[in-house]
Amino acid sequence: MPESDAISTIGFVGLGNMGTPMVARLVEAGFHVQAFDVSSDARARAASHGAAAADSLAGAAVGADAVILMLPNSDIVESVADASDFTAALAPGAVIVDMSSSEPLRTRALAGRLGAIGHPLVDAPVSGGVKGAVGGSLTVMVGGDDGPVARVEPVLGVFGRSVRAGGIGAGHAVKALNNLLSATHLWITGEAIAAGERFGLDPEVMISIFNGSSGRSGSTENKWPNFVLSGSYASGFGLRLMLKDMRIAVGLAAAAGAPSRLGEAAVELWGEAADGLDPAADHTEIARWIEARDVVSH
Ligand code: NAD
Repeated sequence: MPESDAISTIGFVGLGNMGTPMVARLVEAGFHVQAFDVSSDARARAASHGAAAADSLAGAAVGADAVILMLPNSDIVESVADASDFTAALAPGAVIVDMSSSEPLRTRALAGRLGAIGHPLVDAPVSGGVKGAVGGSLTVMVGGDDGPVARVEPVLGVFGRSVRAGGIGAGHAVKALNNLLSATHLWITGEAIAAGERFGLDPEVMISIFNGSSGRSGSTENKWPNFVLSGSYASGFGLRLMLKDMRIAVGLAAAAGAPSRLGEAAVELWGEAADGLDPAADHTEIARWIEARDVVSH
């Protein structure tokens, strides 16, 4: 890669639970970061980590070698990446990296629109939560063409371990499927613990036995001990964001003609919880929601 292709200035849009610690890591790694969010509090937080707070979308884009998007969903990603003030401010050849958990088919279409005006798109969603974003231990699932992927690789390495999923949209597809697994594990763990507790078992004992047995998962190893049994319900990942990812995964299965009977049931169950809980509820609240149900209230 020629030296001139090296990335030194990064625009970063979306400074929420994930974006803020990711910006902090980029600054620590020596990148110049131009950070934008619609929330002025979020911009101030990014500035406190050493980023240059931009007061507009264009201000984050101008002069950047790459612009990272860490936004809630595809609607918002498109409202940013298709905005004429954003695209007009981009430097020639600047790469857009969508690290949000977006919809893979919409990502492919967006890549076509951005490619037509000279900007490659790479999808690079992550797993590992706020803890992984703070500690640089995220798994980054990368989709896109070889050239732009190679160009942004040194940037993605700052966030953790990057794994090439395939062409454009592949990262977003595997991310949604991963979260369908994760949400299904979390739900069934909640049911198992509720049944065991009513039988007279201790939840901590059950979790420790599951973790040495074949029922273990990210839910039993991480989410239950750290966010449910601790009573914090504060993983930093919203329940509605999880449901969005599950719907993407089930939609992907439907479009591909693949079976997703359990996936559809999980979407329905999580959807009921989302309707019944505060819109800002953490996704680990699902455990408390299940615990409060009983058979007659189905
Ligand atoms: P968040 O809600 O905490 O942050 C989103 C940020 O985007 C907010 O600060 C919001 O003000 C900002 N924003 C919204 N619209 C905007 C716009 N038009 N222009 C600029 N900024 C705008 O969300 P998060 O938890 O940081 O998640 C971000 C993405 O990462 C989501 O797609 C989510 O599914 C995914 N994700 C989250 C986690 C997690 O543990 N939180 C883990 C993996 C992936």
